[in-house]
Amino acid sequence: MGQKRIKKLVIAGGGTAGWITAAAFSRLLGKSLDIHLVESEEIGIVGVGEATIPQIIRLNHMLGLDENEFLRRTYGTFKLGIEFVDWGRVGSRYLHTFGDTGINLANLHFHQYWLRYRQAGGENSLWDFSLHQRAADTNKFARMDRVGSSPMGGLAYAFHFDAALYAAYLREYAETQGVRRTEGIIASVERSSKDGGIAALKLEDGTRIEGDFFIDCTGFRALLIGQELKTYYQDWTHWLPCNRAIAVPSEKLSPLPPFTRATAKKAGWQWRIPLQHRTGNGHVFSNEFMSEDEATAILLDGLEGEALSDPRTLKFTTGRRETFWEKNCVAIGLSSGFLEPLESTSIHLIQSNVSRLISLFPREGLHSADIDEYNRRTAAEFEQVRDFLILHYHQTEREDSPFWQHCRNMEVPEPLNEKMALFRASGRIGRDVDDLFRDTSWMQVMLGQGIEPQDYHPMADNITDAQLDEFLRNVRAIIDNAVTPLPSHEDFIKKFCAAG
Ligand SMILES: Cc1cc2nc3c(=O)[nH]c(=O)nc-3n(C[C@H](O)[C@H](O)[C@H](O)COP(=O)(O)OP(=O)(O)OC[C@H]3O[C@@H](n4cnc5c(N)ncnc54)[C@H](O)[C@@H]3O)c2cc1C
Repeated sequence: MGQKRIKKLVIAGGGTAGWITAAAFSRLLGKSLDIHLVESEEIGIVGVGEATIPQIIRLNHMLGLDENEFLRRTYGTFKLGIEFVDWGRVGSRYLHTFGDTGINLANLHFHQYWLRYRQAGGENSLWDFSLHQRAADTNKFARMDRVGSSPMGGLAYAFHFDAALYAAYLREYAETQGVRRTEGIIASVERSSKDGGIAALKLEDGTRIEGDFFIDCTGFRALLIGQELKTYYQDWTHWLPCNRAIAVPSEKLSPLPPFTRATAKKAGWQWRIPLQHRTGNGHVFSNEFMSEDEATAILLDGLEGEALSDPRTLKFTTGRRETFWEKNCVAIGLSSGFLEPLESTSIHLIQSNVSRLISLFPREGLHSADIDEYNRRTAAEFEQVRDFLILHYHQTEREDSPFWQHCRNMEVPEPLNEKMALFRASGRIGRDVDDLFRDTSWMQVMLGQGIEPQDYHPMADNITDAQLDEFLRNVRAIIDNAVTPLPSHEDFIKKFCAAG
């Protein structure tokens, strides 16, 4: 490949993906790159990515954003996890929290002691030992790194925010750092006659934007990576059958819950995302199993306040690009693939792909070793998240509709089968070293979905029955003492980061 110095970076698209990319590149490579972003207000953004996972805090630190200011500007709220309602079976409910449950003891996960306690007839659920659960149940929140002087970790959190305001906020940040923005519709793509890479974008008004390197952030349209470079899209609908979402905002909730809710429905599930000024709702479903009219009726019926606008439908195909980096073009955001929003992972994948690309970004010329490494690691990350999502659908007792019968009976990827078998045997987690989801996430979702480990680790027998009772009592007392004095989520926001 050629040895041309890479000086001009062009980002096509300005949704969450485009502006995160522009913000991060301008922060870390702004001195050596001239960065130009093209977007079209007429086309607009998908505008639904409003729930995140805690890794976003790292992005904020890297960009040097003030967290309270970021929440004020985006009407943001705090998120301690996702409550899954009716997933394992109708009537079940569990919180996939972002923090540890209980306290690990003598190098053994807390849940192993809890399994021993359960096998001896104990009635408390694992979540009775969760700080996050208690805070969520009482709609409380505060920033807390640790629980006093105890060994218990504090409240791990992420955010909910308004997607349009988030893109606008990052745009302001990136433009202040020198990113140039052009408004216009990309009409065609010019290729280099030398190596087939992309040479320039041509806009409808005739403007030509040249570049050495291009990032495709054009969303589901995938203008560069798909329409122009024709990279193959792997379709994962056979594992993750939902392919439609109907979204509608409703009135804000009070008290303000510090968590996302995902309620399973007949052919999919419904999200509830509490923001400062409104609530985001959406029904994700499969049109193979349900009509749009029925899905809309279910969505509106499940709202907890007045709808604030008409519902709108989004279509998607779950899957990923075979190659994310092709020639001098990398796809980031929805153009690179889509994993449905059940675990709020898409914005994280943007962030993670941007940092991976920056760490492998070429100075001069393109190197196939960098490209291969990027494609390999990105594919692995997509697949790990995919398997975690499949777990929610497949591990269920539900058989009350053809959708759930399909999910329960479908073949799943072998690594997921192995993880479930390991957990079922003795509560052990077979997590990959670089898996996005920690042991505690796998453990909570496997238990929450109804896997009951048959045994526990022998190290849990290293303490006596009396010591086990005292340990569990202490954990609950620590949680009581920590949560009782916390302010409500709403009051915390009013005090530190209220918008408007
Ligand atoms: C139903 C649903 C729910 C979701 N929920 C979550 C969630 O809770 N959490 C989460 O992390 N993620 C979620 N996501 C994913 C999240 O919305 C996206 O990852 C995120 O918004 C990034 O989108 P994007 O920037 O890639 O695309 P878009 O927002 O679609 O932006 C594309 C950009 O490209 C521009 N563009 C396109 N074509 C042209 C053209 N021809 N000329 C000029 N400009 C053009 C557009 O104007 C726009 O600026 C959800 C997605 C869906 C579908």
